[in-house]
Amino acid sequence: MDLRQSKELYERACAMLPGGVNSPVRAFRGVGGTPIFFREGSGPFLTDVDGNRFIDLVGSWGPLILGHAHPAVVEAIERAARSGASYGAPHAGELELAELMRAAVPSLERVRMVSSGSEATTAAIRLARAATGRDLILKFDGCYHGAVDSLLVKAGSGVETLGLPDSPGVPGALAALTLTAPFNDLDYARDLFARKGDALAALIIEPVVGNMGVLPPKPGFLQGLRELCDRCGALFICDEVMTGFRVARGGAQERFGLRPDLSTFGKIIGGGLPVGAFGGRADLMSLIAPAGPVYQAGTLSGNPLATAAGIATLRELSHPGFYEHLESATARLTEAIARHAERLGIALCINRVGSMFTLFFCASAPHDAASARQADAKRFGRFFHELLAEGVYLPPSQFEAAFLSAAHRDETIDAIASAAARALERI
Ligand code: PLP
Repeated sequence: MDLRQSKELYERACAMLPGGVNSPVRAFRGVGGTPIFFREGSGPFLTDVDGNRFIDLVGSWGPLILGHAHPAVVEAIERAARSGASYGAPHAGELELAELMRAAVPSLERVRMVSSGSEATTAAIRLARAATGRDLILKFDGCYHGAVDSLLVKAGSGVETLGLPDSPGVPGALAALTLTAPFNDLDYARDLFARKGDALAALIIEPVVGNMGVLPPKPGFLQGLRELCDRCGALFICDEVMTGFRVARGGAQERFGLRPDLSTFGKIIGGGLPVGAFGGRADLMSLIAPAGPVYQAGTLSGNPLATAAGIATLRELSHPGFYEHLESATARLTEAIARHAERLGIALCINRVGSMFTLFFCASAPHDAASARQADAKRFGRFFHELLAEGVYLPPSQFEAAFLSAAHRDETIDAIASAAARALERI
């Protein structure tokens, strides 16, 4: 495969952008090699600057549940752009998007739009601390909630890929306010709540971890945490930036029957444009400025282009059978890959929830960060490159989720499964 122009651009980029990229996990450090520069996305496909075409399983890390350049989303953005890119003042689109979100996610009694998932989690933590008058927060090992000072403690995603335990630059005194616990270990959480629960403002969790690779919650784990929070007055913040409108229309909280106090969103609700949101109980959200004293603001919050893309996306997702179809298509793909691995005698576990999944080369399915780290990441790297050579673009890291979109039709899924079979034979 000719990647000359990508390599040239990467060399130029390294002289200008730290590490040659604008977000670490794009840099291929987790799998080796150099990143590919793309020039176009269409449906399930990405075309790079050298003209190579790939079936895309990254979907911009989750937002593109309809695939690239979906006609309804493109039309909405074009129409919005003709009416002006930003007003810095209220408009109907931001309200409509919030109402569409609430219709799907009943716990969102009030919503504040922001411009990224990181902004949403930052504000949710601030609000939880203000509402409870407590400083401690609890997160789970391997969960990533954005490049947020308080939350860059045992974070997965790019932090895991680069092997950074935490980030320099986060003051120790701030990190000390963030407690951590293993995902899926309710006994550990019970013990921690018994000791620290009364000082805990909130826990924040990825209800399905996507940022250590996909780790599904064990039955009862999320409900058990909810009860622990209720007993000691800590808030439950459900980080649905990845799972929102992905694992069900009502997100993980619908799928697992959960009612969080606060939730954070991003990715899909922006249809590929920069959007985030947080929301939840009306009494808590009424503390947000200007309704209340907890400050939160943004020049481009509720941006007309971004909300138009989000509204167009969410409307498509409300078509009957959308999620059932997407989930069964994803299951068909992962089952086909698993069968090929079994035939070849390769130890492969595929964790999947809805249309998000991760391949782990190991004998038993990882259920927390520690077991995910046991998977053979070197073999994953070899598989990634063999699959890339077959024209399929997986997330370039063991510790990320792959995503299927509604644009991946049956013939595309068959093509991925056959490519995976050939790639597996070579690793
Ligand atoms: N929370 C989760 C669960 C995420 O997966 C991410 C990003 O991947 C974030 C928060 C941060 O969102 P953003 O990258 O839009 O700031």
